[in-house]
Amino acid sequence: MEKKDLDWANLSFEYQPTDYSYVSNYRDGAWDDGALTADHSIRLSECAGILHYCQEVFEGLKAYTTESGDVVCFRPDQNAHRMADSARRIVMPPFPEDRFVDAVEKVVRANAAWVPPFGSGATLYIRPLMVATGDVIGVKPADEYQFRILVTPVGAYYKGGVKPVKVQVSQYDRAAPHGTGNIKAGLNYAMSLYPSVEAHAAGYADNMFLDPETRTYVEESGGANFLFVDKDGNLVVPQSATDSILPSITRRSLVDVAESYLGMKVIQRQVRFDEIDQFVECGMCGTAAVISPVGEVDAADKQVVYGMDHVGPVMQRLRETLTGIQSGEIEDRFGWVHKIDVE
Ligand SMILES: *Cc1c(COP(=O)(O)O)cnc(C)c1O
Repeated sequence: MEKKDLDWANLSFEYQPTDYSYVSNYRDGAWDDGALTADHSIRLSECAGILHYCQEVFEGLKAYTTESGDVVCFRPDQNAHRMADSARRIVMPPFPEDRFVDAVEKVVRANAAWVPPFGSGATLYIRPLMVATGDVIGVKPADEYQFRILVTPVGAYYKGGVKPVKVQVSQYDRAAPHGTGNIKAGLNYAMSLYPSVEAHAAGYADNMFLDPETRTYVEESGGANFLFVDKDGNLVVPQSATDSILPSITRRSLVDVAESYLGMKVIQRQVRFDEIDQFVECGMCGTAAVISPVGEVDAADKQVVYGMDHVGPVMQRLRETLTGIQSGEIEDRFGWVHKIDVE
């Protein structure tokens, strides 16, 4: 199979249409068989539920080429499961989890020429999404939906090495207590765009959001979970008493990596903001960057510095181990790497 003629090492994180997307529609209480399509647009009624009451959920994962030349993705069953949870929370019919994985395979296979080669650092980003397409005018769930997967090649998150970033403590909340912060829905991002633009304008890579109920505990950033390392070398993972942290698959994978590959102790608990200066390392984790080391956290009356000039040793080891498992250079003990037959 001939690869597309792209400058793989210098791709950005911008949408570029590929050959096919996957689409399935929900009508009369059932999902249709689904199919690949070369049409990258959606035609919607002006009264479609998504346009009025924001019924939309999405996922994000990536396909890439391993050292041995296989095209794989990472734990797609977890994205399938989380998307079904997200859908149920805003009264959308979940797309069947086995069909989700099958659809990911189909759309990656159909776009195999767009999967970046091993060593480029680039990946084929996979974005499943679901929207309410049925008409609603009174406030209620729609009765028609579209599930779609688009794929687009994106460049390595860190070109020229992983570098620590600065974050600021936001004056805004990302999610409401016991609201929808624990699902992957566009509505949460609508809420965090203003603080995100504000953070970037002030020179920060992202926000650290505190718990929306008491503003005492660390929750997460706009699109990544936080991790800390304490003085004894334990991994400390913030938990939310108000269930407003998104359950990151990268975070849960790193917890397993820390425990079973690196023999670390992992402590999952609520983390008070006023204790984060007791930690020795901080990072943010998510599919895109795996781990972004955090070198500095600034709040109105406090500045915590972990170090801007190098990645802490524990974050470094965690990142290398997980990316090594993903690329096939380290044994995949848990069966996380999902091979896609592309020939
Ligand atoms: C997607 C997302 C994450 C990261 O989740 P991964 O499954 O690791 O990619 C973290 N926080 C928010 C708010 C997210 O939307």
